[in-house]
Amino acid sequence: SLAISELDMAYGDLNVLKKVSLEVKAGSVTCVIGPSGSGKSTLLRCLNRLVEPKAGNILLDGTTILTMKPETLRRRVGMVFQHFNLFPDHTALENVMLALVRIKHLPKREARRIAEASLADVGLASRKDHRPGRLSGGQQQRVAIARALAMEPEVILFDEVTSALDPELVKGVLDLMADLGRRGMTMVVVTHEMGFARKVADQVIFMDEGRVVETGSPSEIFDNPKSPRLKRFLAEVL
Ligand code: ATP
Ligand code: MG
Repeated sequence: SLAISELDMAYGDLNVLKKVSLEVKAGSVTCVIGPSGSGKSTLLRCLNRLVEPKAGNILLDGTTILTMKPETLRRRVGMVFQHFNLFPDHTALENVMLALVRIKHLPKREARRIAEASLADVGLASRKDHRPGRLSGGQQQRVAIARALAMEPEVILFDEVTSALDPELVKGVLDLMADLGRRGMTMVVVTHEMGFARKVADQVIFMDEGRVVETGSPSEIFDNPKSPRLKRFLAEVL
């Protein structure tokens, strides 16, 4: 589980997160929604310390991540990005193996076995020897998800992972994520896909201007929004 308390983060003198607090239960799916610039990506970046918060704390199963060794954190918290971030000169299999060898220090044979299983898990067994350039956007994103899964993290963070995909490829990736959620993976998902949030989330967080404005179940957020700001946001996106 994750417990985020009173997180403040600034880029220079621009305050981007303001006392953000939320709980993510083990085995649950949390979707984070909100307008552009509200701080959603920054929140995720704090959760695996791509940026450092100015104040507040983040506990992963009761232990602060703020002083955790980067390697330990990389193992325990996975991240999937909008633009996949795959290595173009490596095959799908090699992309998945890399972190297993470099961060988990597994022998190559063991890394290969796990990477193959992980690619099979996302439906890409037959594409394992392809480089990213020869895969569709949806397939590349599934390789990125396989890479995160292979590390067996306790939490996976997803930042707008379907935003760069052609519309016809979005569903396959969302279905895969929904399936991971059903299998008990702890996930924090920043998304513009309100249908996904409504169907898959256990908890929805609405952010605006660096603050958590409203937190609730999908039906509380989408059917009974309380704050005027959330009502306006939903009127724009639904
Ligand atoms: P979007 O939906 O467009 O992805 P977001 O909710 O993810 O938006 P963030 O990317 O977290 O928003 O950005 C929050 C604020 O921080 C914005 O005002 C943005 O301009 C600013 N910001 C983001 N990254 C940086 C950076 N590297 N340097 C300076 N300011 C930044
Ligand atoms: Mg963002």
